[in-house]
Amino acid sequence: MTIEKNYDLSKLNTFGIKANAKYFVELKTEADLVELFGLQEFKDNKKIFLGGGSNILFAKDFDGIVIVNKLKGINVLEEDNENVLVRAMGGECWQDFVDFTVERGYWGIENLALIPGTVGASPIQNIGAYGTELKDSLFNVEAFPIEGGEKKVFSLEECELGYRDSVFKNKLKGKYFIAAVTLKLSKKEKKNLSYKILAEYLEQNKIEVKSPKDISNAVALIRKSKLPDPKVLGNAGSFFKNVFIDQDKLDKLQENYKDIPFFKEEGTIKIPAGWLIEQCGWKGKRVGRVGVHDKQALVLVNHGGATGEEIMNLANEIIASVKDKFDLVLSPEVNIV
Ligand SMILES: Cc1cc2nc3c(=O)[nH]c(=O)nc-3n(C[C@H](O)[C@H](O)[C@H](O)COP(=O)(O)OP(=O)(O)OC[C@H]3O[C@@H](n4cnc5c(N)ncnc54)[C@H](O)[C@@H]3O)c2cc1C
Repeated sequence: MTIEKNYDLSKLNTFGIKANAKYFVELKTEADLVELFGLQEFKDNKKIFLGGGSNILFAKDFDGIVIVNKLKGINVLEEDNENVLVRAMGGECWQDFVDFTVERGYWGIENLALIPGTVGASPIQNIGAYGTELKDSLFNVEAFPIEGGEKKVFSLEECELGYRDSVFKNKLKGKYFIAAVTLKLSKKEKKNLSYKILAEYLEQNKIEVKSPKDISNAVALIRKSKLPDPKVLGNAGSFFKNVFIDQDKLDKLQENYKDIPFFKEEGTIKIPAGWLIEQCGWKGKRVGRVGVHDKQALVLVNHGGATGEEIMNLANEIIASVKDKFDLVLSPEVNIV
């Protein structure tokens, strides 16, 4: 394992932001992991684990050690007539994991097709899309404490998964390295077409769902038509989380905004953050080298050469205008470092 110094991270974050790390290493084997925990540069410095860099904003240079997770491997642990446990190492590309499962006809994560990034990052924010979340299929997470010690296996409950949230973003933030994730998938048909856009797409295109692959293919096509490709336009997907409010607040908002979209979910009311941002006039707006995507107001973009600070300034302006207009506070989904 080689330690690099003053390493340029611009190709390792999908925003394409130029930021340097004081130290940089790549983890390729479990032996590297053991070596890493013994390194003085690791012990003495701030540390951050990185997967595909698709949910991170480097607001400035990182004065510590960045460790990129390249631990690979996917295998079936056990199965019966109904279910199957499939384990993937954290450095696997999430889409390769989806492909592995749908190719074998296992149901569970087909709606999560084409989410960028790695398996190891998937529990951090409980990735979700098209009516499904990781928590619907997660069995356990294997993780090593960063301060040293034995591997811990977190059960689904211990991961405390919520909307774009987990224990790893809260009380255990920065405390564990996620080495592997095991999912419990179904061998019996278990399609989830609750998401309107997906159901409509299948109907309009006369696609009869016979396998999970039919769904993952459809989701991939819809996603490609809606989201900017980070290789073309730097971005980290949704920059902000949707906003959850109670009925009183909704009643107040409806006095001024009769057409405000909302979704009642498990005792709370979700307001799409993209709509709030759009109403403030930000959709498609460009400010110097940064901007808001013209098709999806939740996505902030780097038009080229932007710094993390420029993205943050834009994000703060958006937060202030949404607060001003709706008295609602947006919070970032992206991890800001
Ligand atoms: C175009 C686009 C579309 C997207 N669409 C969606 C979507 O539909 N749904 C959704 O939920 N997300 C979406 N995202 C966000 C992103 O893809 C996910 O959050 C993904 O799980 C991030 O994976 P990553 O490997 O790139 O994580 P990174 O950005 O590398 O890391 C994210 C965070 O996790 C930590 N981390 C990473 N790996 C580990 C590890 N092994 N152990 C401990 N900590 C770790 C990092 O330190 C960081 O804080 C999208 C992003 C883009 C660019």
